[in-house]
Amino acid sequence: MRPADGFETRAIHAGQPSDPQTGAVMVPIYQTSTFAQDGVGRHKGYEYARTGNPTRTALEACLASLEGAAFGFCFASGMAAEDAVLRLLSPGEHIVIPTDAYGGTWRLVDKVHGPVGLAYDAADLTSLENLAAAWKPETTMVWVETPSNPLLSIVDIGAVAAFAAERGARTVVDNTFATPYLQQPLGLGADIVVHSTTKYLGGHSDVVGGFAGVNDGAVAERLAFLQNAAGAVPGPMDCFLTMRGVKTLGVRMDRHCSNAAAVVEFLAGHPAVTSVLWPGLADHPGHDVAVKQMRHFGGMVSFTLAGGSSAAAALVERTELITLAESLGGVESLIEVPALMTHLSVAGSSNEVDPGLVRLSVGIETVDDIVEDLRQALEGLAAG
Ligand SMILES: *Cc1c(COP(=O)(O)O)cnc(C)c1O
Repeated sequence: MRPADGFETRAIHAGQPSDPQTGAVMVPIYQTSTFAQDGVGRHKGYEYARTGNPTRTALEACLASLEGAAFGFCFASGMAAEDAVLRLLSPGEHIVIPTDAYGGTWRLVDKVHGPVGLAYDAADLTSLENLAAAWKPETTMVWVETPSNPLLSIVDIGAVAAFAAERGARTVVDNTFATPYLQQPLGLGADIVVHSTTKYLGGHSDVVGGFAGVNDGAVAERLAFLQNAAGAVPGPMDCFLTMRGVKTLGVRMDRHCSNAAAVVEFLAGHPAVTSVLWPGLADHPGHDVAVKQMRHFGGMVSFTLAGGSSAAAALVERTELITLAESLGGVESLIEVPALMTHLSVAGSSNEVDPGLVRLSVGIETVDDIVEDLRQALEGLAAG
């Protein structure tokens, strides 16, 4: 890739030259577990597919390019990528995670890495004072998620990364909600960027995967070791599907964002809606930081209803086009009640998710159809 190539060009071409043997324009699905060797210890760069597979290599190069990372590693899921990153820490070290971290992230830290010696505290990272209060001499990592899930709060990546770097700690950013099209954490000062590629990067709700990107060579070497040693790698078909999704990331995100803006406008003007959370709203507490660090405000919208939790549960069962389901980031609109579905547990019991909060992953269907579906579902509520 020429260094000057733009984001959309790299999404389509980075790491994906046409096949030198056949001319195939798309990177083949190398459905093989092993590779013939020319002689003992002499091979073409691939020996065994846990260690490396050309379809995975292509996806890793593409995602690294999009995140501005020198090195990229793909995993079988977002959680597997996060697990590898947490394995960079040793027993006795301390990590600060966000109070509204993705539930799986909190569970991984609390229930998997905690019992073998990783200490942690949860802090509301929208303020550096909270980070300073949670800081310990043993703190070596800060975990950031912005926009967060499901409250869509915004953390100033540059400010947190500078605070951590001054104290010799690394900053990790879970960039799943924003995608590299909207926000590039490494460029803002973070050390490691992680993704659930299951969401916007894959973009079609048909594949599970994860990614970690870094610039530091020593960290990259350790992640490559962990990827091979623990072996939570994605198969070639999954890499192919993710790569196909990534090719349209830019155009999809543009539409996710503009559709979300229209949905927000409708919801904010509806009498049954009591609050709307979206970083694009001028009264959102993270709006100014979002303007500074994001290209646009994303396709995730959360809101509450006058009728509270029973109205929320009724609403998500009344939508017809918008599907009631967990997950997000696909071309289709999905709706859920986090307190009842994805966020039964959150880090820090003082920070329970409002049982009346509805989370909407705004898809790229015709925007009038999405708004119309919400209108009829809200009208149904009023009618009882
Ligand atoms: C889904 C998700 C994950 C976990 O990824 P999986 O691919 O489901 O393992 C991590 N972080 C965020 C923000 C997510 O939305």
